[in-house]
Amino acid sequence: MDLGLSGRTYVVTGGSSGVGLEVVSMLLAEGACVAACGRDQQRLDAATAELAGAAGERLLAYECDVRSSDATEEFIAATVDRFGGIDGLVNNAGQSRIKPFAETTWADWRDELDLKFAGVLNPLTAALDYLRGSDAAAVVNVNAILARQPETNLVATSAARAGVLNLSKNLANELAADGIRVNSVCLGPIDTGQWRRRYEEASPDLSFEAWGAELAADRGVALGRLGTAAEVAYVITMLLSPLASYVTGSSLDVGGGVARYV
Ligand code: NDP
Repeated sequence: MDLGLSGRTYVVTGGSSGVGLEVVSMLLAEGACVAACGRDQQRLDAATAELAGAAGERLLAYECDVRSSDATEEFIAATVDRFGGIDGLVNNAGQSRIKPFAETTWADWRDELDLKFAGVLNPLTAALDYLRGSDAAAVVNVNAILARQPETNLVATSAARAGVLNLSKNLANELAADGIRVNSVCLGPIDTGQWRRRYEEASPDLSFEAWGAELAADRGVALGRLGTAAEVAYVITMLLSPLASYVTGSSLDVGGGVARYV
């Protein structure tokens, strides 16, 4: 099936690892041009080296911390300089903050809210005029099932996620008039760098797969395993595609059935 992404330009934040890297790879395979950012140019270059070899000029790997509006404006300007416009934006950069309320300081709250909101607002603000110029503009915000199903040891992350889910809906309503669709994907536990790091820290007497299956059972993941970055990237790519032209304001769970809400 032709997803209609070929020749279009997509910006992916947090493209040096996990879900973001997989989205970059899928978009390039579909013939799109991709601008990917991360905070560390070396890490970004190492992660995308193989893709860059095949994609050539269709991949721009650019160091940018999305918490900085200046740096994000520079990244978007470099993208437009290289590719001439922007058709879609995947706001994926981020990480979670594991702390219960009693240990969460004001500085933690500010940092967490800053990362989650700036991670959407800075790229969108910088790219807005270019998205308006596209005939098939789409934004996908990578969120978490935490947005609707909070966890006590992720108190600030859960609250920030809920706010970003609300924001996404509002943006979808307002930007529909400009022809820009806005959707969210809400993730359950996905096998990426962050879970590999936690596995290594815990150093259990189990393979990663067995540890992941125990974790999934403990969290009530109906499918009994962690998800893969590719399983998320397929959904994001579908939402970016012009074929999803009547989908906006929606939020799709990619969590193996971990959500307990209806
Ligand atoms: P990874 O840790 O594998 O990748 C995160 C990416 O974001 C990296 O490329 C990282 O690069 C980049 N990044 C982090 N902070 C910034 C920043 N301020 N500016 C620019 N880039 C940044 O994460 P995942 O692939 O697992 O997660 C992707 C998204 O999904 C994240 O927002 C995460 O919170 C969310 N999520 C993930 C879940 C999971 O189970 N994996 C569950 C729920 C939500 P660098 O560090 O070099 O900047």
